[in-house]
Amino acid sequence: MSSARAVPFHCPYCADEDLRPHESGHGAWECAACNRAFQLKFLGLLARRTAPGGPHEQP
Ligand SMILES: [Zn+2]
Repeated sequence: MSSARAVPFHCPYCADEDLRPHESGHGAWECAACNRAFQLKFLGLLARRTAPGGPHEQP
């Protein structure tokens, strides 16, 4: 996972699937349905410490 771009499958605003890369690039997408442009940004990995297999975390 070096420089793989995250591809959104649905518009986060109208949930349409007609997305295309925005001209500014770098994770920017535009929705042809609602004419919104948005940008995906990877914030980092979560530092969760939940035990695998347990749906509820009991202290
Ligand atoms: Zn949209």
